[in-house]
Amino acid sequence: MDYFNPFFLDDAHWRVQGSSTSRHSELNDVALADLSCGTSVDSPSKDNATMVSISTVFHAQWIFAGSTPDTILISSDSVLFYVHSHHLLQSSGNAFGSLLSKVHSSIAGSSSSNYITVRENADLLNVVVHAFYGMDSQKFNPPPEVMLESIVCLKKYGARLEQTIAPSTPLFDHLVMQAPRRPLDFYVTAAAHNLHSLAAQVSAYLLSFPLTSITDEQAEKMGAIYLKKLYALHHSRIETLRKLLLSPPEEHPANVDCGFVDQKRVTRAWALAAAQMVWEKLPDLSPSFIQATLGSLTTHVTCNTCKEILNAKIRQIIVEWSLETRNIE
Ligand SMILES: [Zn+2]
Repeated sequence: MDYFNPFFLDDAHWRVQGSSTSRHSELNDVALADLSCGTSVDSPSKDNATMVSISTVFHAQWIFAGSTPDTILISSDSVLFYVHSHHLLQSSGNAFGSLLSKVHSSIAGSSSSNYITVRENADLLNVVVHAFYGMDSQKFNPPPEVMLESIVCLKKYGARLEQTIAPSTPLFDHLVMQAPRRPLDFYVTAAAHNLHSLAAQVSAYLLSFPLTSITDEQAEKMGAIYLKKLYALHHSRIETLRKLLLSPPEEHPANVDCGFVDQKRVTRAWALAAAQMVWEKLPDLSPSFIQATLGSLTTHVTCNTCKEILNAKIRQIIVEWSLETRNIE
């Protein structure tokens, strides 16, 4: 992991045993000074030494709204995140899961930093803290499961999800970017938290997903409305595709080179190719596949007028299919 700087604390002497010679030694000194006023880090230790680490973004000296942090969140794997209690209180509807209110009431009047041990590990807490500050955590490349958990965790800590995960926020963009790796899980989680914009964006990645494989648990979690929206999207696209493909190219007036029988031969070839594609019933049938399949028909046509009509019809289908919505309503 590259988002924190590790160092060791000796429980008896608060002594740095690790990276004191690093360029962050000054930062570690600040952390140690603060820790001597607070509680020790509760994590596995050897020989009375506990390794803790400090977030490289949320460290003791980072400034937000003109002030330095006054609270330290300690992850389950002993990574320290320096935060501003006033900002978290302002951004949370439940005083950060009631953790901040407890801290404030227990050490009211103290000028030292507050220490809060949370159950989340550093990977997850890192995404959550970034989200509370409206900051982008993409550079840390957290796995999809952490991104999914972050939504649940943000709700737990009282974040206003409709604002924290609103379109164009860093977290929204990050979730959409990760969604193709586990599209159904992202859709289910977004739906479960009534994050419509996110669910709508993610639904585009589910066009090739076989809806019949959705489990009862997933259906229950996303809810009837979002399950219906997904089925409606698939049905709508399949119907549109069917209408587009089953409408054959027009015929032109018969002439000596291309008569009624010749043109009927083209129409039958079109109908066969279209029927095969419709039979697939793929709501995510790609325009390039349609182009390749129908375009191949022209190689067997000698009449230039028929070729022009065929190509115009294919272009029209490609345009209309490309404009068809790929997202739930
Ligand atoms: Zn013709």
